[in-house]
Order: sequence, then structure tokens, then C-alpha cells
Amino acid sequence: MQTEVSKSVNKKVLIVEDNELNLKLFTDLLRAHGYTIEPLRDGREALAKAREFAPDMVIMDIQMPHVSGLDLIEQMQGDAVLATIPVLAVTAYAGKGDEERILGAGARGYLSKPVGMAQFLAAVKAIVG
Ligand code: MN
Repeated sequence: MQTEVSKSVNKKVLIVEDNELNLKLFTDLLRAHGYTIEPLRDGREALAKAREFAPDMVIMDIQMPHVSGLDLIEQMQGDAVLATIPVLAVTAYAGKGDEERILGAGARGYLSKPVGMAQFLAAVKAIVG
């Protein structure tokens, strides 16, 4: 009999998030549900890490120093391999137009902070199972 947890085993998620607390919350929650997580604080390493880790999905913070998650999503869309990886964006600023811009850049989904843990998990499962 398969459990909820065993279904998500072997699903790999790259989390790109500069905020330590959010990174830990997202990482701990998904690990507790059986996902294999690669946490990454520096967005500048995101594309190289995505190529190396080959995740089933990416969780992408939008507001980061050095490089925005929006730019990274656009860069992923321009790469033959990375364009196939679904991205769930998370952002602190849910201004009108943000969602359109983020989804327009190629993100599969969008959550505004503060993100409830149940909502977060549901959004991940909706994308990657
Ligand atoms: Mn941030």
C-alpha cells in the first residue's frame, strides 16, 4: 500500500530562496513529506545547480539579491533542458500585475508570502505529485 509520503519519494525539488528562515521551513516541510531537496541561498548558482541536480521542479523566490527570480525563470525558459522543469514562484510582493508577469515569464504556479504550509504543500503536489 502506498502512502502519501512514499509517492513523493524520488521527487527532487530545488529550492532557491535567500531568506534563511523560509528556506529552512520549505526544506524541512518537503523533506518530512519524502521529497529530496536541494536548498540554495544564492540565486546566481540556480541555473548551474538546476542542470546538476536535475530537479522535478524548482521553487523560486522572486526577491533576491544579485538576481531576481523573475530573471531566473526567464533564463530557464530560454534553455532547452531547463525550460522543461516546472517552477513554483514565491514572492513577498503580490501587487497587481505580479502574478501575470511571473506566469508570463513561464512559472507554472505562484504563491504570495506569507505562505501557509498547507497551501505550499498543496501547490507543490499539484505540480510534481
Ligand atoms: Mn527573498
